Amino acid sequence: MALIVQKYGGTSVGSIDRMRNVAARLKRTRDEGNQVVAVVSAMSGVTDKLIGMAKEFGEHPAEREMDVLLATGEQQSIALVTLALHEIGVDAVSVTGRQAGISTTGSHTRGRIQDIEPEFMKRSLEEGKTLVVAGFQGVTPEGMIHTLGRGGSDLTAIAISAALGANVCQILTDVDGVYTCDPRVVPNARKLPEISYDEMLEMASSGSKVMQSRSVEFAKKFGVVFEVRSSLNDNPGTLVLEEHPAMENVVIRGVSIERSQARVTITGIPDVPGMSGKILGALGDAEINLDMIVSNIAHDGMARHSFTMHSNDLGRAQAALKPVLADISGEAAIETEGGIAKLSAVGIGMRSHSGVASRMFKALGDAGINIGMISTSEIKIAVTVDETRIEDAARAVHDAFELDKEPVK
Ligand code: ADP
Ligand code: ASP
Ligand code: MG
Repeated sequence: MALIVQKYGGTSVGSIDRMRNVAARLKRTRDEGNQVVAVVSAMSGVTDKLIGMAKEFGEHPAEREMDVLLATGEQQSIALVTLALHEIGVDAVSVTGRQAGISTTGSHTRGRIQDIEPEFMKRSLEEGKTLVVAGFQGVTPEGMIHTLGRGGSDLTAIAISAALGANVCQILTDVDGVYTCDPRVVPNARKLPEISYDEMLEMASSGSKVMQSRSVEFAKKFGVVFEVRSSLNDNPGTLVLEEHPAMENVVIRGVSIERSQARVTITGIPDVPGMSGKILGALGDAEINLDMIVSNIAHDGMARHSFTMHSNDLGRAQAALKPVLADISGEAAIETEGGIAKLSAVGIGMRSHSGVASRMFKALGDAGINIGMISTSEIKIAVTVDETRIEDAARAVHDAFELDKEPVK
């Protein structure tokens, strides 16, 4: 008997009918002779709606209360999906994060899974039950509710697969798998049969929200192989696993886009040791996630730093930087620019192929798209462009690398 973990996202449990579809799939998997653990998200739109309601009381609601509030979305789903299973005669039980033994550490709204004590789940499985576990939630050792960051049900599914030693972990969603780019943006994007953890991680952390990036990190760390596939059909999906040598033949596996980015440039910084530490330290203390960081020396011999961040963080970044700049030098000044987006091309094949960046930049140039900042890592090249051109940019790069075509073996 195999143990199968299946995660169903918000759209997949987005209505009573969809929940019945989920229940039918779970029953089928169970009738095939498997033990089944479902992990479910809140119904689509519910988490956003709850956040909107909380913000009626102020732009920065207390994070502890946000956790208490947001965890209710998943709790509605587990009870309803369990009832849908009862309706078709399946012995099922709902399981909250606490009942699943998921203990967390870290901050509210960004909890990290520290440990899972799966005794209740194991016992219930032995009793022949199908489990419906709430994604996205855990509790601290002190009993406080934590949520696991947006998209965090993916993490719950992967962590539970590791803790229970599941034979199969499937992430069932509203697309057939991981594509070469978001199919909503690039209509001729191609479904990938497989992708390495590192590529999936880079794509997820640069805007491909098909998987939560922290969940991919966890999967890599614990060697959980998982498949992303559709909850609405039986097409084979995309396997996410450790890389193997044949994967390096493909130069670019996929392209990601991230909108709503902003750039901050600080000019007039004395070119002496310690300055970057002070500036970035202030942003770190304000818990602002920086993405690209570029620094250079201007004509006047002073240093300048530019970095990108989510545009929602711009106000807080300015507030955090003000006192530091006043302290550094009278000449230091901040410039900001919103309305930018980031395009990233990702592939482990970049390690062994040259000329990738120039091919990408030429494609953008030919499409008349201006490049702002550039950053590279071993398996990623990222650029910023004007947000109004990001979809054209994605299509241009996708075409230039012929990602719609099956790679030649
Ligand atoms: P769920 O609610 O099931 O967790 P998400 O909305 O989080 O689903 O993720 C699925 C969505 O991710 C798809 O509808 C798709 O628009 C988007 N997406 C972004 N990049 C990709 C990609 N490279 N491949 C597939 N889907 C992608
Ligand atoms: N409901 C949560 C969110 O919308 C978690 C998830 O869907 O994975 O982010
Ligand atoms: Mg998701």
